[in-house]
Formats: sequence, C-alpha cells, structure tokens
Amino acid sequence: MDRNDNRTMTDDSNGERPATNPFGSLKIDFGGANGSSPTAPGALGAAVSPPFGGIRLIDAEPSEAVAVPGGPTHGMDSGGRTYGKVLIIGSGPAGLTAAIYAARANLEPIVLAGSAPGGQLMLTSDVENYPGFPQGIDGPDMMTRFREQAERFGSRIVDVDVDRVDLSERPFRAWARGIEYRGESVIVATGASALWLDLESEQRLRGRGVSACATCDGFFFKGREIAVVGGGDSAMEEANYLTKYASKVHLLHRRDAFRASKIMIDRTYDNPKIDVHTNTAVEEVLGDANVEGLRLLDTESGDRRDMPIEGLFIAIGHRPNTDVFKDWLDVDEKGYLVPHRHTESRIPGVFISGDVVDHRYRQAVTAAGDGARAAIDAERWLESEGIAEASTATAW
Ligand code: NAP
Repeated sequence: MDRNDNRTMTDDSNGERPATNPFGSLKIDFGGANGSSPTAPGALGAAVSPPFGGIRLIDAEPSEAVAVPGGPTHGMDSGGRTYGKVLIIGSGPAGLTAAIYAARANLEPIVLAGSAPGGQLMLTSDVENYPGFPQGIDGPDMMTRFREQAERFGSRIVDVDVDRVDLSERPFRAWARGIEYRGESVIVATGASALWLDLESEQRLRGRGVSACATCDGFFFKGREIAVVGGGDSAMEEANYLTKYASKVHLLHRRDAFRASKIMIDRTYDNPKIDVHTNTAVEEVLGDANVEGLRLLDTESGDRRDMPIEGLFIAIGHRPNTDVFKDWLDVDEKGYLVPHRHTESRIPGVFISGDVVDHRYRQAVTAAGDGARAAIDAERWLESEGIAEASTATAW
C-alpha cells in the first residue's frame, strides 16, 4: 500500500488490487462481532488461494421463504430451507465438522456460517499440525475442504451473522438479516475473534497500515518494514509469514518470556528478516493518513523511542464470540461458554463446541473433534426426544 495513498486496506475502490474478490458482493470482516480485523479481500485472494473457490456461497436474501410454526421439514427446497433438526451457528472446524456428522445422520443441518465464514483458519497461513496433511495446508484451503465435505452430505450453509436467538422453547430460533431460522436443536460453534491493543491511534489507522490479518493484508507490505505485536504462536506465525513480503519484520513483545511453542520461537529467532524486541510495548501508532511509525515503551527501563515502520500487525489473542448467547447460556469471566456435561449447555438441546468453549487447547484439530462430539450428542438427544429416528448410521 502506498504510504501516501489514503485508501484503506479494505477499500473496495482500490485500483491496485491484484485479484478479484472471491466472495463477490459479500463483505468480509474476519474480526467477528467486536468489529476487529480489517481485511482486504483482494489481497487475500492474491496472498492465498481464493477461500471457498469453486463453492457456491449462499447469500441469504430477505425474499427467502420464512418457516412458519409447525411448517414443513422437507417441503422447502434445499436452497431455501430455514428449518432443520439441527441449527449450527459458526463455520470454523467445530461448526463444519458438526455439520458433516449431523448431515450424515439425516439431521438436515443448517449452518449459519457468519459473514466471515471459515473462522480463524481463514487468517492462518500454514497449518502444519493438522493430521493428514504431511506437507501442511493453507488455512483457507483447509476450510474449503471442510465446507465441501459438509455440503456433500446436504448441509445448507448460509453466510450470515446471527443477530439474536430465542432458546426459550423448541424449536429454537435464530434471526439473521431478518430471516428466522428454526432448529429442534442448536450447536453453538461461533469461535473467537482477534483482540486489539485498544489505542486510539491503532483504531484510527486500522485499514491504513494496522491489521490483525497477515494473510489478508501482508501483500500490501511488499518491500516495507513492519512490526508484529504479541508473544504467542499467532505472533510468531504472522511474523514468519510476513517475511514473504516485508523487507524487515520487528516482533514486539511486552515481556521477555514467550507463550509461543519452542519450535515457533526458534523459527522466529532463526529468520534473518525478523528482529525480536522483548520488554517492548506499543504506546502509540504514529502517522496521520497511514502508519509511519510506533512510539515504543521499554517495559523494564521506562524509556521511550520511536521506530519508523509502515505496517503494524496485532496478534495478541482472541475473545469468544458469545454476545448473542450470553443472556441464554452460562459464560465464564472471560466470556467463554461453560459446558455442563459433555458438549451440553445449560439448556437441553443446545450444545456448545470449539473455541467458543475452549480457551485451553484452541487447535483446529481439537475444535473439529469437539464439533463431532456436539453433533453426536445432538443426535442422541434428538433420538431421546423422539425427534430423530434411532440411527446407527453415524460413524462412531
Ligand atoms: P496467546 O497464546 O494468548 O498469546 C497472546 C500474546 O499476546 C501473549 O504473549 C500476550 O502477552 C500478548 N498480549 C495480550 N494482550 C496484549 C496487549 N494488550 N498488549 C500487548 N501484548 C498483549 O494467543 P495466540 O498467540 O493467539 O495463541 C492462541 C492459541 O492458539 C495458543 O494455544 C496457540 O498455541 C494456538 N496457535 C497455534 C498455532 C499453530 O500451532 N500453528 C498458531 C497460532 C495460534 P503476555 O504473554 O505478556 O500475556
């Protein structure tokens, strides 16, 4: 991105964009409910394979049929169905694995996938620890495969954000863009969203050099000097990924001990294009129209210094996407949903899975496993309620 160019990284009018938006008219905001990450879909398309390439994105329109109480289960065509035995909210590894299992158990799942479908793996470059991919796989490519597999068995996937839910009685209800969706059971798999430093200057310059998505926006920083904030695996991964584009990446961490795994720390220190600065906090992002530098604080000595850079990537963790559920389900002090037994929530028939529950493991493979558990629990519960036929078809 040209320093003197006022266009944001999310600006649709960006004539420099090297690729078309693979999501068509869909607005992509990978940051989730807290309005977090600004992204450049065109840049994403340039940096990685188009997410969900070749897969039909169903963008629900208000003209779609609305299910009526007691309405047909099977009567609506599969393209416009708003009723299923399972409503799955979220489309990361947990939601889409739940959809694969639920669809194979004839539970007619509807996945309300969010306007930024695919979850956090859409922001991940190389996934090297998901079994079955010995050479690693791009996060967006992996989510394309999850989605294809869920659709193959008849899941209906709608890329909309859920505005509100009513879990007071069955069928449970969820509203998105004015359309009411109903399910005899619900699986919540809404994951978590990127956190920000919460500096005024950071917010002002978001999309003008400040980003939380290296795979989306890294392309704009070809040959530039940039910084990444954080001391976990995300920060290490983003810093390494960004060296594909940037001339130099400064990794800034507020302490001198890292949360990241040893392999990621070693890889970061071994990368000649990365300079690691410990005990270093960002006090201010400098620049009017675009990022021009950072005011840094030495957290040990209290000294301040300015660092000239043109891009800042924030990689400091996530918060769970539970806003629409917190009046219905139990949440802990950090906002994560609290499971009762297995994947059950406090409401019978409502199940919870993936990163929206799990702040300990937070891995694609554990989220996928959790999604499978939730679908199996939902199927057994529906059977016990006489809503689904007893089945031995599920693959367990
Ligand atoms: P994380 O492990 O929670 O690390 C967040 C980092 O950001 C910490 O170092 C923290 O500093 C720092 N931080 C938090 N708030 C900050 C603030 N306001 N200002 C400055 N720094 C701040 O989060 P993560 O890196 O996103 O990783 C989350 C989970 O995903 C982990 O389990 C991780 O292993 C996993 N993950 C795995 C991979 C992979 O295997 N390829 C990739 C990405 C993530 P302090 O240390 O001082 O608290």
